[in-house]
Amino acid sequence: MTNAKEKLEQQLALLHQQYLDRLQQELPLLQQQLDQLDNTPDWRPLVAKLLASFHTLAGSAGTFGLHELGQSAKALEVQAKTWLADHAAPAAEQIDSFRHIFSQLRQQKRLVVQQRLLPVAEKNTDKKQTLIYLLEDEGETARHLCLTLSTFGYVVEWFQQSHLLQTALQRQLPDALIIDIELPEEIESGLGFIECMQQQLPEQVPLFVISGHDDFSYYLKAVRSGALGYFVKPVNAQALEARLQRLLAGRQRDAFRVLIVDDDQLLAKHYALVLETAGLRAEILNNPADIFAGLRKFHPDVILLDVNMPQCTGPELAQLIRLQDEWLGVPIIYLSSETDSERQLAVLIKAGDDFLTKPITDNALVVAIFARAQRARQLAEVMTKDSLTGLLQHAHIKERLAAELVRSERAQQQVSVVMLDIDHFKKVNDSYGHLTGDQVITSLANLLKQQLRKTDMIGRYGGEEFLLVLPDCPVEKAFSVIDKLRESFAGFPFSFDSQSFYCTFSAGIASSNQQLQPDLVIEQADQALYQAKTGGRNQIKVFAAPVADE
Ligand code: GH3
Ligand code: MG
Ligand code: MG
Repeated sequence: MTNAKEKLEQQLALLHQQYLDRLQQELPLLQQQLDQLDNTPDWRPLVAKLLASFHTLAGSAGTFGLHELGQSAKALEVQAKTWLADHAAPAAEQIDSFRHIFSQLRQQKRLVVQQRLLPVAEKNTDKKQTLIYLLEDEGETARHLCLTLSTFGYVVEWFQQSHLLQTALQRQLPDALIIDIELPEEIESGLGFIECMQQQLPEQVPLFVISGHDDFSYYLKAVRSGALGYFVKPVNAQALEARLQRLLAGRQRDAFRVLIVDDDQLLAKHYALVLETAGLRAEILNNPADIFAGLRKFHPDVILLDVNMPQCTGPELAQLIRLQDEWLGVPIIYLSSETDSERQLAVLIKAGDDFLTKPITDNALVVAIFARAQRARQLAEVMTKDSLTGLLQHAHIKERLAAELVRSERAQQQVSVVMLDIDHFKKVNDSYGHLTGDQVITSLANLLKQQLRKTDMIGRYGGEEFLLVLPDCPVEKAFSVIDKLRESFAGFPFSFDSQSFYCTFSAGIASSNQQLQPDLVIEQADQALYQAKTGGRNQIKVFAAPVADE
């Protein structure tokens, strides 16, 4: 980790050096152009060229830590702009003062080390299992919670006494703590114990509280000791699990992805390295013509776009991206030396969402991109996910399936498509009410999220019907995975008042078989599901193409 960071720092320093080398070549050329200025009648094209050069210089210099040089370049840019706007050839003394600023600029070229940034995102740890410590003296409650949580794939360690929990905490920190605040051995002091314990921990561990009291003063005390959830006995284990899952999903999310389009390769590399040092992922697009391929391959959360580029300007590229609905949710942020707010507005009206101005410090860039990426992800979640289960909605899972069929055909892989439906669900609703029915749906959704691979796609296709897309997974493998899930689900006790009941599901599996039509594969999975239902439910069937008669 530290090594990787050091390596990035070295790369940043190398880019810095390359930039200085580039200046070494560029500044004498600018000097030559400047020298031509007072003996040419055709001053306009020359000033326009100088304007463009100083504009670029003003943007890039600050990024590489040469702040004074950047400011001088900005002053020269502004002066050149005024000459062009006034339609009057620059007077001799104006040219002199211009030269003077430029000679100062040339002297300012020295290595200034820019402040280094702090990482704002913690790196994703790829460990699979989530460790939970449970402090609970009541056997019944503890066993019920342990069973539920382990069905969902958590590793639960149960302690009956607080000193045992404390010893465990010294050994290893869990991903979350669940604590009953009324333990007979320390009457009334449960919350005090938690506060004391949290202070001793090297980092805050997410805390959920179990209590027999359903009243305000206890809730308040729980909040004050840092609890993120409060569950009154008898504990609804599914609800607790759902909370845990939401909490942990937030921490284990993928790094935000930023697509950088800038014709200045050194600058683009610099931004990419800065973002990567802060835990984001960045990719540079060299050729604007590759934009759609780049978007499809990289699926960015944010597009960072330069305004002035030779083949195609930033705003043109932004308009091009906005021609298709597919990327509507991805914010386009311009990073440009343009500081004139009128001009920024004129660009934003065409397309694009925001302006960042060059030069920008590393920290400002990271924070600005991070905040926008986070917001874009949240919005995308709300737009594409079902509110009860957090799974992809009908239209979106079908869209993913269509894309996956194309991808897997190219990669020559098998995709398995699973249609899954809860058995006799009407009866659950009729016997225990709609709310309990909702809980069964949520629990199955959470079980699927917890147990399937990260690359698998899960959609809520209808009320109690789910569509799963399992990339690079032959049907035999899909069968064994889904059958294991079927067993877990069937053995999972739900509770209503004090009764407990069980639910099952049936599923049909079809293989993509180089088929590119999502509707056809879904239809086959549906036929297999129908066989599983008529075959007695609580089972899995694989679609088999009917054998043609001789
Ligand atoms: P089968 O084993 O053949 O699938 O029988 P079933 O009763 O599960 O199937 P059916 O499709 O006839 O009934 C599904 C029921 O699911 C009907 C509907 O009221 C209920 N349902 C659909 N969406 C929701 C929901 O979001 N929440 C709840 N609680 N019930 C829902
Ligand atoms: Mg059903
Ligand atoms: Mg149904």
